[in-house]
Amino acid sequence: MAVIQVSSPLCRSEKIVKRGKTDNGWQRYLCRNEDCETKSFILDYTYSANFLNHQKKLKILKRWY
Ligand SMILES: [Zn+2]
Repeated sequence: MAVIQVSSPLCRSEKIVKRGKTDNGWQRYLCRNEDCETKSFILDYTYSANFLNHQKKLKILKRWY
């Protein structure tokens, strides 16, 4: 498993903490930047032809407060 550097989708801050998992079992992250509007996000992997490249795509599915 490669180490993935997680950063906020909006503010690019790397002050990220894990915050449990979604119902789908995806790791949920929380942005600790108080000025950031994202706050909570997950990493969404593209299970496609690009999977071998370990491409990751940040996707904001929903806001959790
Ligand atoms: Zn952020």
